[in-house]
Amino acid sequence: MKQSQKRKTDWSQFLSGVPAGDYIFQDTPYEEQIEQASALIKEADMILIGAGAGASTAAGLTYSGERFTGNFSEFIDKYGSMYMTDMYAAGFYPFPTQEAKWGYWSKHSMINRFLPPAMPLYKQLYEIVKEKEYFVLTTNVDHQFQKAGFPTERIFATQGDYGNIQCEKGCHPKIYDAEDLFRQMDQARRDCLVPSYMVPKCPVCGGNMAMHLRCDRYFVEDHNWHEAAGRYGNFQKRMEQKKGVLLELGVGFNTPTIIRFPFEKMVRENRNLSLIRLNMDEAVVPKSFGDRAVGIGGDMAQAISDLNSRDNI
Ligand SMILES: [Zn+2]
Repeated sequence: MKQSQKRKTDWSQFLSGVPAGDYIFQDTPYEEQIEQASALIKEADMILIGAGAGASTAAGLTYSGERFTGNFSEFIDKYGSMYMTDMYAAGFYPFPTQEAKWGYWSKHSMINRFLPPAMPLYKQLYEIVKEKEYFVLTTNVDHQFQKAGFPTERIFATQGDYGNIQCEKGCHPKIYDAEDLFRQMDQARRDCLVPSYMVPKCPVCGGNMAMHLRCDRYFVEDHNWHEAAGRYGNFQKRMEQKKGVLLELGVGFNTPTIIRFPFEKMVRENRNLSLIRLNMDEAVVPKSFGDRAVGIGGDMAQAISDLNSRDNI
């Protein structure tokens, strides 16, 4: 649930201390960049997608503006527009009771996880890679990859999923599907609160439950999480022997250690790998990668659409 809007980081502050000390904005014209990226994808045997918050924002699942003020007006009125500025900030509001906490999170999950269909950006992305050997690493928790047709066994969602809940203290390594619960809460919510009898409790310790989102040290990494981590590791290893492309989408500097930096390390250490970085404002790429890197800024939805059309030519 990281949101890059309003939390922009000046990438130049990162120039010392990280491996990529030679970041540049490429000055190649957009059309040429799309052509270069398209050629890299065509020639690749394996494609590793890394997707961050920017991908879902570009897809239309924005956390601010009308999607927030329209859907959350009741919450903004109740808790104050000073705190309720967007869905990212709202998620950190210190809700005073469990009824209030689940009142908010059931709404947040409906709006971001259960109600939206697969967005065109994700569907086009699937079209681009579906004939290839591919894998998805994502910090997004909105389930868009699954909705767009990517099989679960090819996705590693490291930070959780808006559709699941866990013990707040992570007392046992299990997560629970909360779709039915959230749909019921959505119907029963009054004045931003859910009825007390709907508040979930941990079936093991009896304590409170929490969203399955990595926000503290209690995040539950269950059996499926570890299986997915293992499959990602295997994919990375096999990629070392193949011609591969790392397709990075909307990964900022909020959590660069999960996708951005490891991807750069892989490309740096393997001459057979290339990096395509799509990023609204931060499409800087290491200069030393030469023509093994394409950094495309601006509207990612447009870039994905253009890549998809080229793929069909
Ligand atoms: Zn527990």
